[in-house]
Amino acid sequence: MSFEIKSRSDQPEKSRRFEQYNDVFGKIKRKTEQIKQKYDAENTEMDSFSPDLLPTNERPMMLSNDVYADYQRILRLTNENNAEYNFLWLGNRRTLDSQEYYSIEKVITLPQPSILERSSANPLEKIEFYNSTNEHDDYDVIIDGHSHPAQEPSYNGFDQLPQPLIDELSLRKPGENYSINDLGTYRLLLESKIKDKTIIGSVITYTGELLTAVSDPNDNAPIPTTIRQIGAEATDDTIILPTSKFDEEKSRRFFEE
Ligand SMILES: [Zn+2]
Repeated sequence: MSFEIKSRSDQPEKSRRFEQYNDVFGKIKRKTEQIKQKYDAENTEMDSFSPDLLPTNERPMMLSNDVYADYQRILRLTNENNAEYNFLWLGNRRTLDSQEYYSIEKVITLPQPSILERSSANPLEKIEFYNSTNEHDDYDVIIDGHSHPAQEPSYNGFDQLPQPLIDELSLRKPGENYSINDLGTYRLLLESKIKDKTIIGSVITYTGELLTAVSDPNDNAPIPTTIRQIGAEATDDTIILPTSKFDEEKSRRFFEE
């Protein structure tokens, strides 16, 4: 079995969800531009969006030992080489004691070198690769991700941003935010209409945070949410990874005005 890529007219219900998401995506870009103008920063290259502005998804995420080892590997490579790395993980929605959670269980080894490094990565190329394997048959959650190193040419100019702009957008340090481009990539993946799968767009920051944007088909959420409790099974204990902190007031101001 492989994914079915369907045209928009085949799936009216999902299409509505994507349109809602497109509205949100457009709003993020528009609002960011407005705020840049307000602080005379139109000409800066800044295209960051704070994970703190995404509301909390009630479902926690649990990583298997294999996936946790891959997380550690990517974090190490990112910091050793100061470069971005891609990853693709699979999982399932599960329930434990009536608590639903995302169980992330499987690491897909990406073919080298074409899509291992971000510089040559195209998200649809990853999906194409994914479709060509049978490894996804037993999984209904896809985590498409890449890492953010501490230093990057695209962070240039961040130091010159006015502090009130940084405050208004809740921006964190370079490498600890999504880029607006990352959200665009995530929207592309949602639009690929991978049938009945939950797609999570993810970033591992150089500091070890696992940022997660999820627009769950079962939630029909107009705003993508983020998972703030991420546990990893390691030896006998469960390790909780650091995650972003929801800034409710600033989020409401950003999305509702
Ligand atoms: Zn990124």
